[in-house]
Amino acid sequence: KLQSKYELIGKNEVLTMYLPRKKYSYKGSYGHSLIVGGSYGKIGAVVLAAKGSMLAGSGLVTAYVPKCGYLPLQTALPEAMVITDNEELEISKIDFSMLPTVIGIGVGIGTTATTVKAFSEFLKGNKLPLVIDADGLNILSKNQDLLKEMPPQTVLTPHPKELERIIGNWADDFDKLKKAKEFSEKYDCILVIKGANTVTIYKDMGYVNTTGNPGMATGGSGDVLTGVITGLIAQGYSPLNAAIFGVYIHGKAADIAVEKCGFQALIASGILDNIGQAYLDLF
Ligand code: AMP
Ligand code: MG
Repeated sequence: KLQSKYELIGKNEVLTMYLPRKKYSYKGSYGHSLIVGGSYGKIGAVVLAAKGSMLAGSGLVTAYVPKCGYLPLQTALPEAMVITDNEELEISKIDFSMLPTVIGIGVGIGTTATTVKAFSEFLKGNKLPLVIDADGLNILSKNQDLLKEMPPQTVLTPHPKELERIIGNWADDFDKLKKAKEFSEKYDCILVIKGANTVTIYKDMGYVNTTGNPGMATGGSGDVLTGVITGLIAQGYSPLNAAIFGVYIHGKAADIAVEKCGFQALIASGILDNIGQAYLDLF
C-alpha cells in the first residue's frame, strides 16, 4: 500500500510532462523569472540560479540583489536583467515594478534582521508563485508563523539540514517522509527533499528521482536547481511538474558532466554547462 504512494521518475515519466517549444512564439511566451537573493560574498548563488533559470528555458530572467550584486550579475550573465535593493550589502526591501511569472527566492540571501524583515513583508504581500530555497527556508524555519503566508503549491527545496530545521527531526526515513507529507498537506506546498535520489513530496504522493550523482555534493549545485525549477514554472509547467522535471534534468546534466570530469571536479557551473545536453537526451 505504501509503495503505491511513490512513483519512480525516469525519462518516460518526465517526457509526459515536457512542454515543446512552439514555432510561433517569442520570449514573452516562456515567462519571466525573478530570482531574489544574494548578500555580500554570496552573489554567486544568484548568478547560478539566474543562469539555471535561463538555461531551463525561461523567456526572461531578472535578478533582484543588493547593490554589490549589480556588476557581477551583469558581467557573468548579460542575458539577465538586474534590479538592485537600496542597500549595498544585503536585501532590505523586496521592491520591484516589473511583473514576473514566478519568483525564486532565498539563495545567498542571508539571515540578518534587516533581510528577515524584508522577507516577511514580501511574503505577506506576495501572490505570485514561489520557489523558496536556502536561507529563505532558514528564515521560514525560525519564523514558522510565516508558513501560512506561502501561496498555494509553493515549492520548497531543502537539503537534509534545511529540512530538519523546517519539519523537525525524524526517527528514520519512513518517519521523515511521513512528516514531510503531513507538512505538505498542512501548508499545501511541494517539498523537494534533496540528496541522493531526491524525493519530491506533494501531499500523500512521493516522486523519487533516478538521476544525479555524488559529484553534486558541491557548493552551488542546489542554487542551480532553484533556478531551473523557477524557469520551468515561468514557461508554464505546474509547480509540481516543474519540481519533478527540474530535479530530473538537473541530475541528468550532472550525470552527463561527470562523464567528462569525474565526481571530484564537478562544480555547479559544470551542471549548468550540461543542461542543454540533458534536454537533448530526452529524445
Ligand atoms: P545544496 O545542498 O542546496 O547545494 O543542494 C545540493 C544538490 O546536489 C541537490 O540537488 C542534491 O540533490 C544534489 N546532491 C547532493 N549530494 C548528492 C549525492 N550524494 N547524490 C546525488 N545528488 C546529490
Ligand atoms: Mg542550497
